[in-house]
Amino acid sequence: MSKAELPSGLSPKLSPLTDKFGRTVNYLRLSVTDRCDFRCIYCMSEDMTFLPRQQLLTLEEMTFLSQAFVELGVNKIRLTGGEPLVRKNIQTLISNLGELDGLDDLLLTTNGSQLEQMSSQLADAGVSRINISIDSLCPERFEAITRTGKLERVLKGIEAAQAAGIKRIKLNSVIVRGKNDDEIIPLVEFALEKGLDISFIEEMPMGDVGCRDRQGTMVTSEEIRDVIETAYSLVPSTETSAGPSRYYRITSEKAADSNIRIGFISPNSHNFCDTCNRVRVTSEGRLLLCLGNEHSVDLKAVIRRYPGDMEKLKNTIVEAMNIKPERHYFYDDDKPQVVRLMNMTGG
Ligand code: SAM
Ligand code: SF4
Repeated sequence: MSKAELPSGLSPKLSPLTDKFGRTVNYLRLSVTDRCDFRCIYCMSEDMTFLPRQQLLTLEEMTFLSQAFVELGVNKIRLTGGEPLVRKNIQTLISNLGELDGLDDLLLTTNGSQLEQMSSQLADAGVSRINISIDSLCPERFEAITRTGKLERVLKGIEAAQAAGIKRIKLNSVIVRGKNDDEIIPLVEFALEKGLDISFIEEMPMGDVGCRDRQGTMVTSEEIRDVIETAYSLVPSTETSAGPSRYYRITSEKAADSNIRIGFISPNSHNFCDTCNRVRVTSEGRLLLCLGNEHSVDLKAVIRRYPGDMEKLKNTIVEAMNIKPERHYFYDDDKPQVVRLMNMTGG
């Protein structure tokens, strides 16, 4: 079935992926694995049990599912996880997705640990944008936050991605009070030196990561902006990435040559749900309609019960739009209500 044709019974006027609040979904974030070589303190607990491999979607199933979304009007897919680059044979999936007719943007979010050896392949396979997470520029701290990560490898990974010619690379940082809140300016200066955009993400209360009090350590976007403005003047940018980031440009003379943007993703302090254009699929094939709610549909069950039935899968996805919640609620009576960890969700 071609992209223009709709599943039976649907109005040709509306995009099939329009929810009951009038929002159209054109962006899929696909978690290709829940596994990771890091154990970041805000994302996972130290002792993790990962899903048995047979519970994960196969790479073929992920391609089939992505094709269904693209035929329904999705033109942007981000591969995430867990750490997407530790999934075995991920290059095959990337190459297959790179060939999907109608997919304009194939993106990746990574911790950077595998980029040194994989960047060229990623560029060749058509990855157009990469987000690389980096929370500290001090090796010991980096290791303390990620529990297992080596800063040096990530720095080499960033260089390799730039050398491979991937045009749009953005850095992502989560600032945690008492851990790296004195590195906000150094991280901005690192982004300036590399000529890369950087986004600061507020820590979200996703799942139980052990004995941390997230509400006590979460640093708001506003606090981070205030710190940056002690050193640099910021002006809001009118450009948007059609995502939750609100962007600023630096106007200070000492950064006059720079063209970088500083983004703030503020799921706690600034609700961006009214413009939500995305859904997520977990590595076990659960379609999550919202980051901060548990509403979901089991797409793996449909794929395995009706192998090769594209129409059935597309109809299931279209019907799922009816349960996309209006907005996220991270807390219920002051208690976190989302039990999924971020690596399960696909950040
Ligand atoms: N492993 C890859 C990485 O770290 O970039 C991709 C998956 S990770 C879940 C995606 C993004 O989510 C990372 O930038 C990470 O910093 C962020 N993240 C993880 N847990 C978070 C949390 N509880 N609150 C806010 N951001 C979180
Ligand atoms: Fe791994 Fe990314 Fe989670 Fe860190 S944030 S533990 S790198 S999935």
